[in-house]
Amino acid sequence: MLRNSVYMEELDAFTYREKIADEGMVLIPAGAIEQHGPHMPMNVDVLLSRTMAGAVAQEISAVVAAPIVYGYKSQQRSGGGSHLTGTTSLDGATIIDIAKSLTLEFADHGVRRIGFVNGHFENYQFLYEGVDLAIRELKKSGVEDMKVVLLSYWDFVDDATISELYPEGFTGWDLEHGGVLETSLMLHLYPGMVDMSRVDDIPPATLPNYDVLPVRPELTPDSGCLSSAANATAEKGEILLKRASAGMAEALQNEFRM
Ligand code: ZN
Ligand code: MN
Repeated sequence: MLRNSVYMEELDAFTYREKIADEGMVLIPAGAIEQHGPHMPMNVDVLLSRTMAGAVAQEISAVVAAPIVYGYKSQQRSGGGSHLTGTTSLDGATIIDIAKSLTLEFADHGVRRIGFVNGHFENYQFLYEGVDLAIRELKKSGVEDMKVVLLSYWDFVDDATISELYPEGFTGWDLEHGGVLETSLMLHLYPGMVDMSRVDDIPPATLPNYDVLPVRPELTPDSGCLSSAANATAEKGEILLKRASAGMAEALQNEFRM
């Protein structure tokens, strides 16, 4: 038994109750099962959101809930598209319900400070909606003090870090799917799960600034990645983990006045 783990599912229930008893905070990682090219596994967004949340939790003594493993549908302009076999997604209504249920469930435990740590671009708005519906429902039943913060970890990588890590130019977080950001973090945290010899060194994908349904598969590069991971390194991953987790910890401390 790991009584000092930050991960809720590794704790016994008695230790968990102690940790949340006095204004405890719960961080809920939100990932996806999604292809990440030939060089990385499909659970990258789950691993990275959970590990990011773990790093934040260590700094501000929060508990990390078991992650939301499946995510909203991969979109062509940010994840290659849901047509790529392997990518396994939930409907938007389902993500909304999960976010709402979990918020209500932790409220029932007495938790009033929740952070969603998102690791999959397409999840964000559905998590937002689920949280909004939960807060509305809680207010109706007399719970007025629930506060939830929603964060996507890449939003905490500042401009100085971007120019430091992307000297050859930065194409934007949407095209980072399977690229330098995620691959560097995986090389730092889970090196055995990355095969750099299988990286497809492609130029950044050129996609229209609109969506078409059903998708035109030919717009997605064959690798399923939207930019090249060739410049990814474990050192960059270490910097990204430190800066993003420190930024998220600071935001949560500010919001919850810790
Ligand atoms: Zn990803
Ligand atoms: Mn994703």
